Amino acid sequence: MFMKPMKYPPINPKFPHFLHGGDYNPDQWKHTPEVWDEDMRLMKLAHCNVMSVGIFSWASLEPEEGKFEFGWLDTIMDKLAENGVYAILATPSGARPAWLAAKYPEVLRVLPNRVRILFGGRHNHCYTSPVYREKTRLINQKLAERYKDHPALLAWHVSNEYGGECHCELCQQAFREWLKKKYDNDLDKLNRAWWTGFWSHTYTDWDQIQSPAPHGEGSIHGLNLDWKRFVTHQTIEFMKNEIAPLREITPNVPVTTNFMGTYTGLNYWKFAPELDVISWDNYPRWHGEEPDWELAYKVAFVHDINRSLKGGKPFMLMESTPSMTNWMKVAKLKRPGMHLLSSIQAVAHGSDTVQYFQWRKSRGCVEKFHGAVVDHCGHENTRVFRDVAEVGKVLEKLDPIIGTTVRPEVAIIYDWENRWAIDDMKGLIQDKKDYLLTCQSHYRPFWENGVPVDVIDMDCDFSGYKLLIAPMLYMVRPGVAERIEKFVEEGGTFVTTYWSGIVDENDLCFLGGFPGPLRKVTGIWSEEIDALYDHDVNHVVLKDDNPLGLKGEYEARELCDLIHAETAEVLATYKSDFYAGRPALTVNSFGKGKAYYIAFRNNGDFLTDFYGALIKELNLKRAVDTELPQGVTAQMRTDGERVFVFILNFVPEERQVDLKEMRFKDMITGEDVTGRVSLPPYGVKILERL
Ligand SMILES: [Zn+2]
Repeated sequence: MFMKPMKYPPINPKFPHFLHGGDYNPDQWKHTPEVWDEDMRLMKLAHCNVMSVGIFSWASLEPEEGKFEFGWLDTIMDKLAENGVYAILATPSGARPAWLAAKYPEVLRVLPNRVRILFGGRHNHCYTSPVYREKTRLINQKLAERYKDHPALLAWHVSNEYGGECHCELCQQAFREWLKKKYDNDLDKLNRAWWTGFWSHTYTDWDQIQSPAPHGEGSIHGLNLDWKRFVTHQTIEFMKNEIAPLREITPNVPVTTNFMGTYTGLNYWKFAPELDVISWDNYPRWHGEEPDWELAYKVAFVHDINRSLKGGKPFMLMESTPSMTNWMKVAKLKRPGMHLLSSIQAVAHGSDTVQYFQWRKSRGCVEKFHGAVVDHCGHENTRVFRDVAEVGKVLEKLDPIIGTTVRPEVAIIYDWENRWAIDDMKGLIQDKKDYLLTCQSHYRPFWENGVPVDVIDMDCDFSGYKLLIAPMLYMVRPGVAERIEKFVEEGGTFVTTYWSGIVDENDLCFLGGFPGPLRKVTGIWSEEIDALYDHDVNHVVLKDDNPLGLKGEYEARELCDLIHAETAEVLATYKSDFYAGRPALTVNSFGKGKAYYIAFRNNGDFLTDFYGALIKELNLKRAVDTELPQGVTAQMRTDGERVFVFILNFVPEERQVDLKEMRFKDMITGEDVTGRVSLPPYGVKILERL
C-alpha cells in the first residue's frame, strides 16, 4: 500500500509559518491612500502576515476594455512586502466590471426560469461564455506577468466562492455535448439511463434536452443528477481556464479557490485534484439556537472534509469572521474566548492558516457591517482587534505544527452525489431526510471521544481504515460495493444504515431486493421502510449478551427499516407496532471483518453507546487517552514523531480534563502539563506530548 506522508511542506516554502490575515480591499480606499499606510501599521500590531488582495478588483485593474491599471496594486504589493506581509493574490472573476456586462451581455447568467440577469451583484456570470473565459484568462495572464517575481506573492486565490449555474443557450449546448460524450452519442442509452418512458418523456433528438426548469422538466432524476454533474464539470473547466496562465507563468506559486463547506451546488471532490491547496470559508452561527458544542462538532466535520479532500494535506481557513456575520438573521457577536477557540479549531483539524473576511470594514454597501479586524473607528483599541492580535501571537508559537496531519483509523462517507439524489428523491419524510445531519450525528461520538476521523466520498480508498461508516448510502456507484466487500473481507469493520443500497449512479432503483449491491456484505434484505410522524415513537430492544455489551432499550424515531436477517446475526429488535420482534440492528461476519446494519434512526444516545462500544472493541486511536467532559473535544496532529494535541472547550463554563500520568508541554505558555488541567469557558490548550 502507498504510504501517505505524515508531514507536508508549508503552503509556500518561502514562508514556513502559520498564515494569519484577511481579505484586503485597498481599492475601496484609493481616494484616501493615507489609509493604506495606517493599514500597514495596524497589520503589524494585529500580528498579521498575509492579505488576500484583489478579489473584487476587476473594475480597478481594467477600468476600460484593454486598458489595464496596475499602479495602485503595485503600491500595495510593495507596501506589503516592505512590511513583511505576504499577498494571496486573487483573480477577479468573481465580479465583473459594468463595461464588460454592457458590451457582452452573454457573460450574464441566465436563471433556471430562462431570464437573463441584469448587471449587478457578484458570482453571476456564465461559465461557458467564450468571451468571459477570454477576458478572465487575459487579466489573469496580466496579473501573473506583472507580479511573478514580486517578493510579496505567496499564493493564488482563484476567483471567489464559485457557485450557481447558468441556463443560457451556450450552456444548454455545452450540456448536450457533455451528454453526447457521456452516453456515447446514443440517445437510446440516455433514455434508458434516465427512465424517460415515465410520463412519456422520451427524447428523439438531442436538441429537445433542456436543463431542469421550474416551468419545464424537473421530474427526471437522472437528468437532474447529470445537470448537477455538468455544472460541476463546467465550473471546473472555467477554473482550469483561469488557472492555465498562472501555472504557465508562476509554476511554483500554489493555487487555491475558496470553497463553501457543504455547499450543495458543486462537488468539491472533483475540484480537489486541480488545486495545490484546499481552502474554505467558515461562518458558523456561534451562540445561536443550538449549544455551541453541538455546532462545534458539525463545524469539525466540515474541517475534516477539507483536510480529507487532498488526502490529509493541511488546508487553509481562507475566511472567517473576527466578530459577527452581517448577513445572518441575528448578527450576534462572538463571546470572549470564542475567537481564539474557533480559530484554533480549524488548526486542530488541519488548517495551516487563520484568515478573515475582512481586514478593514467597508464604508458602504451590503457588507459594511460585516465583522472586520479594523472597525469604522479606524484604530486598534477595540475588543475585536485585541482578539485578532491574540490569535496572531498564538499562531507564532506553533511553527512545529506546520505541515503536520493526522491519519485517522475511522472514515465516514459523506458523498455529494448521494446528497443530490437523496435531496431530489420523493419519499420517506420530505423535510427530514437529513443526510448531512445524520452523517454529522455519526461523527459526533468520535468527536466527543477525541477519535480523529476522515470524511471522504465513496470513491476514496478505504484500505487504510479500521472502521468505515456509510450512513444513508442511498446511491451506490459502480465498484463501490465491491470495494466495501474487499475492505470487510480483509478485516475492516463497516457500518451502514437504513436507506442504503437503493439506487445506482443514474438514480435507478436496484432490482432484486435492497440494499442492492450491499446485500451480500450486510447479510440482510430490506423489505420496506416505515416513516414516522413526530409524535410516533418505537423502541429497539438489545438482545442479552450481545457482543457489543449494549443493554436495554433505545428510541427509534422517524425511520424504521423492516429488514430480514439473511446471513447476519440479530443484535436488537423492534419493540412495538406490527413489526415488533423484527431485526433493528444486525452484524454480519464477512471474511475477516464485520458489517453492521442499523435499521432505525436514533441520532442521539444509541449512536453514543454503539460507537462507544466500537471504539473500545477496535481500540481506536484517540488524541488523548482519557474521559472528556461533554462539550470538550481533543484533536491531534503529528509529523509521525512529534504529537500535538488540541483540547477545546466549547461550553461557556470551566471544564476539567484529567491527563493522568501523561506529560505534555503547553505550546502557548511553555509550561509542563500533567494530571488535571482546567479549561476556562471557551478555553483552549495546545499541547505537545513529551
Ligand atoms: Zn451560460
